[in-house]
Amino acid sequence: MFTVLFSACARNIEEKPVKNAWLLTPELTSVKVNDPFWTPLIERNRTATIPYTFGKCEETGRIDNFAIAGGLMKGKHTGERYNDSDVFKIIEGACYSLIETPDPKLRSYVDSLVTLIAAAQEDDGYLYTTRTIDSLNMAPGAGRERWIDERVSHELYNVGHMYEAAVAHYQATGSNVFLDVALKNAELVAKEFGWGLREIAPGHQEIEIGLIKLYDLTANRQWLELAQFFIDVRGRQGDYVRHPEKSRFDVYNDSVYLQMHKPVLEQSEAVGHAVRGAYMYTAMADLSRATGENKYLEASQRIWDDVTGGKIYITGGIGSKELGEAFGEAYELNNLNAYTETCASVANVFWNHRLYTATGDARYLDVLERTLYNGLISGIGTDGCSFYYTNPLESDGRFERAGWFDCSCCPGNVARFMPAMKQYIWSVTDQGVNVNLFIGSEAKLKTGAGDVELKQTTGLPWKGDVTINVDPAVNNTVFRLSIRIPSWTGDAPMAGGLYRYVTPAKEKPELKVNGKKITITEEKGFAVIDRSWKRGDVVTLSLPMEPRFIIARDEVKADSGRVAIGAGPLVYCVEEADNGKISDLNVNPATGVVSSFDTAILDGVGKLTFTAEKADGSQKEVMAVPYYSWANRGKGEMQVWIKTK
Ligand SMILES: [Zn+2]
Repeated sequence: MFTVLFSACARNIEEKPVKNAWLLTPELTSVKVNDPFWTPLIERNRTATIPYTFGKCEETGRIDNFAIAGGLMKGKHTGERYNDSDVFKIIEGACYSLIETPDPKLRSYVDSLVTLIAAAQEDDGYLYTTRTIDSLNMAPGAGRERWIDERVSHELYNVGHMYEAAVAHYQATGSNVFLDVALKNAELVAKEFGWGLREIAPGHQEIEIGLIKLYDLTANRQWLELAQFFIDVRGRQGDYVRHPEKSRFDVYNDSVYLQMHKPVLEQSEAVGHAVRGAYMYTAMADLSRATGENKYLEASQRIWDDVTGGKIYITGGIGSKELGEAFGEAYELNNLNAYTETCASVANVFWNHRLYTATGDARYLDVLERTLYNGLISGIGTDGCSFYYTNPLESDGRFERAGWFDCSCCPGNVARFMPAMKQYIWSVTDQGVNVNLFIGSEAKLKTGAGDVELKQTTGLPWKGDVTINVDPAVNNTVFRLSIRIPSWTGDAPMAGGLYRYVTPAKEKPELKVNGKKITITEEKGFAVIDRSWKRGDVVTLSLPMEPRFIIARDEVKADSGRVAIGAGPLVYCVEEADNGKISDLNVNPATGVVSSFDTAILDGVGKLTFTAEKADGSQKEVMAVPYYSWANRGKGEMQVWIKTK
């Protein structure tokens, strides 16, 4: 019962040859994470974030909204029109967590929520608690009738998250109960939307991803075709009810904000709301995988070139503008008021993983990894119960993590992301196995050459040692093991030309098989080893982790005359908590940087120390900590980009 979603690519390759050799993503059940860095974060998500965010949903009426809509209790709808989606996302995360760690209490809690959701569904499948509770007094923006104000209402957005949650629930439990609710809703959406029906694109993309997950699970092409319709209709629909000027919904009049300014296949630039955009670019790649039509993938790749060429932060964050939570112009990458929503980082990982899966090209993993280790996990505090919605790269002391938000999309996105992140570590190719990320884990994979068990142990992100034990089920199995050589071992932290290291790396990656050094042959960013594998074979990779200063292209005015520091996949920052006031610091990029590990702070982190100059010309020993760990020790100044002479 667990084979569904993550093995779906295999089925599609058999059914329909596609131009790209799509890589296969292992099922969640076939990978176990055992890693000194990631295991505690995943465990914190399970024991703190998931129960905490469910608790917040209860406290804020998000759960009661379902009970009231279902007639199980009396009351009014509370909160925003899109609040249903938060509950769906946390259920999705809880279900992935249940796959990893059975927990009868959590299972029964999730099932009790599913009962409420099922009760809240109207007879014809419609599910949107605010309208069902009281169609005359709805949450602002819901629209006076179903779907007439979809740009604003989030009716399709909400249920897209429900489809994803229902698929996860089926995977975790084998129960059809939630899936049936989702499918009944999808049937209704399919009756209402389509060519010749309501030719309306979703106001907030998400249902496209959800529908393709339903298709992957059920193999019912109706869901794939509906997803394709929602992508194809975007930028083609006719006039729209405009909202009165100066209302809080004014932004929805902007077609660019909604990526509706032109048909999707004609889009080449990342514009508008970053989360909407990245969910759509993700769905476009999904659509190419499932349909075999590469045009969606090609458009998605064009937009990726635009992002990596000028619209991504060194942390992997995207969407620099607060106004509209949007992509800025090329090189518009302010630090203090960088928006870089946590959800946009989650979406950026989804998107890069899809593009990687389509192409086998490691440059997408370089962006995925950078986002994962920096701009994504920066969104959650060390307690697992405090969050950042925005992830600025500089603070003058004004920022503080919050326990919740009125629009609380980000905590739920983190909750569902963490227990499923292990799917990104390994991939199966038509030639063998790819090692995508350096995260301690065990994988049982089915390759064309036969079954193989792999075990990875590593000291990343603090130490560059990686060991991979290869155990084929049958001795002398011939296949290719490809191990990613990360961009951070070369001249630039990622492709696109936006950032580069000030100095070349002193050392090169070193690869050994059974203790014997071998020459690295690189293909698409991977060191490839073609070999007849025996049980007990051991591959070791040594990655240089020296800290190096980074500069941005001249066009990025915000980083002009400044340097950042990176070591491995991590970006570091200087914080007031360690250094006192830091805004007047000046660093010479020729200065030596010493790295060490500090068990006493921030649950144990690598730290970098170096000498900087203060405004009065005096020297000061400065300490930098990983960017992801910032803002866990009270308010204070922070800088990623430090002034240089
Ligand atoms: Zn968010």
